[in-house]
Amino acid sequence: NRAWHLVARPTGLPTMENFALRELAREPLADGEVRVRNLWLSVDPYMRGRMNDAKSYAAPFALGEPMQGGAVGRVVESRAEGFAEGDLVLHMLGWREEAVAPAKAFTRLPAIDVGAEQWLGNLGLTGATAYFGLLDVAAAKPGETVFVSAAAGAVGSAVVQIAKAKGMTVIGSAGGAEKCAFVRELGADAAIDYKGGRIDRLLAEAAPDGIDVYFDNVGGDHLDAALAAARLNARFAICGMIEDYNSGSNHVFRYVTRIIAARIRIQGFLYFDFMDRMADFHRDMTGWIASGAVRSRETIHDGIESAPAAFLDLFSGGNIGKMLVRLPG
Ligand code: NDP
Repeated sequence: NRAWHLVARPTGLPTMENFALRELAREPLADGEVRVRNLWLSVDPYMRGRMNDAKSYAAPFALGEPMQGGAVGRVVESRAEGFAEGDLVLHMLGWREEAVAPAKAFTRLPAIDVGAEQWLGNLGLTGATAYFGLLDVAAAKPGETVFVSAAAGAVGSAVVQIAKAKGMTVIGSAGGAEKCAFVRELGADAAIDYKGGRIDRLLAEAAPDGIDVYFDNVGGDHLDAALAAARLNARFAICGMIEDYNSGSNHVFRYVTRIIAARIRIQGFLYFDFMDRMADFHRDMTGWIASGAVRSRETIHDGIESAPAAFLDLFSGGNIGKMLVRLPG
């Protein structure tokens, strides 16, 4: 049972020297505990923040300890009521082959006909983030024009599809022609390759009448371009600013005063602020998946060895859809 440990805190972009794959001792289960063989590990941009020794909404990873993250696995041994061998579960003890913990650490997956990995994507954290950010934080309405950055990624691809399912006009930005083609395939009305020109000019061309909503996954120039394009009473849901996670912020915002004239409402959020709406999210998302309105795509790295590379690839755009690590089980 191997687990990735954080062995040095990164400065800037993490490197392989920050991680070490180490064997964990195999302990017998205590009463009330469950042993799970992981099948899918999630790697997510927020984990970069947890590698720092800084106070934030999620506690820092401890140096010398196994890292954590979303995972789906199968119960292989149980000394807890409610869990039996073979059950599929969702939990936060990722970055390792086997998870051992008290039963409350695990959630049994409902028996619905979707791939188990989707509980880490459209039916899980990234889908929920898209849903609450678009519909609750930005209060996007049918007929409005929505701009979403990192639109070919996990959260972004869900935003595009939810917005289309709700009758909105959608413009997505992504890096490169292949990603832009994917964003259009998802139903976006326009896709902008931000690597092909200045994002403020490209957005102004794609949305000549402006945008009502900006769903921000990137920050920096994308946010500035959205400020320039905002219509009266636009709402910005600030979900992520991946451009700054490794480099810190040193942007010049040229259009920031438009917040006043256009009465823009800008709000940051975390998906777990909306736990009371989780049942609505699951109802709508399972419906959209069943009807084909929301499709899932994953970029998959195989084997526990590949987890840090999969994680680092997020910062160079190595994924289309949700980035996942698949284990043999
Ligand atoms: P993605 O699947 O979108 O992967 C990250 C993508 O970001 C890459 O594929 C790349 O796409 C883009 N990217 C990376 N570096 C840069 C850069 N320097 N400039 C512009 N784009 C970049 O990840 P997620 O869907 O998991 O997360 C998307 C965002 O949502 C992140 O900012 C994340 O932190 C945030 N988030 C926030 C949550 C919340 O509760 N607030 C919860 C979950 C995620 P490309 O090739 O197109 O550049």
